Amino acid sequence: MKNFALSFILSVALLAAYAQRPAADHETAKGGELTIQPITHATLVLSYQGKNIYVDPTGGANVFTGIGAPDMILITDIHGDHLDPKTIDAINTAHALLVVPQAVADKLPATTDKSKMVILKNGDKTAQLGFSIEAIPMYNLPESPTAMHTKGRGNGYVLTIGGKNIYISGDTADIPEMRALKNVDIAFVCMNLPFTMSVETAAQSVLAFKPKVVYPYHYRGWDVNKFKSLVNASDASIDVRLREWYPSAK
Ligand code: ZN
Repeated sequence: MKNFALSFILSVALLAAYAQRPAADHETAKGGELTIQPITHATLVLSYQGKNIYVDPTGGANVFTGIGAPDMILITDIHGDHLDPKTIDAINTAHALLVVPQAVADKLPATTDKSKMVILKNGDKTAQLGFSIEAIPMYNLPESPTAMHTKGRGNGYVLTIGGKNIYISGDTADIPEMRALKNVDIAFVCMNLPFTMSVETAAQSVLAFKPKVVYPYHYRGWDVNKFKSLVNASDASIDVRLREWYPSAK
């Protein structure tokens, strides 16, 4: 009876954790299904063939309840909404490869296993765990040494998983490197002033590189419905996926 009560309480806790995040999306990729799990703000998990890629894990271990431990952790930049050492410490990183820019590597604890770290600078490409990863610049415009995001420090990424090209913008303005992207299947694009770009500018940049699917993310408080209508008014074929990235704000 005691066990039953305990497992009941655990199930309720687990359900509450699931309820905190939007449902995952499932894409058909070559060699298996690609699962896309928005978590919060800039944090998401991609899963494919039993491998889990955590992007900018933040929010503590609980937000990942029910998701397997990471095989790879991608981090875009040094700010707390992208690099959260407490969360990295709390999750099981025993088998995780860390893919990071140098500025992030410099802020990870000195005890971090260097053999499990891959440092990429803008423009670098690598293949890890059977996925290709390219580091894309991310920065504010106009460029300035005092900008919140200076060119070269952080990385956006294009990941290729099961033939799908997935773009993760990180924190960026409407930069030419993003506009020039080709064959993006799924894009995660930021929009929040003054840190990144406006909803209007984000819509313009998405219309320039025309991903098949776009998730507005990193948009705290901004009008993603407007983003969707601006994108679809010019190109109805782009699948703009609005998800609840801020569940605890409701
Ligand atoms: Zn950010």
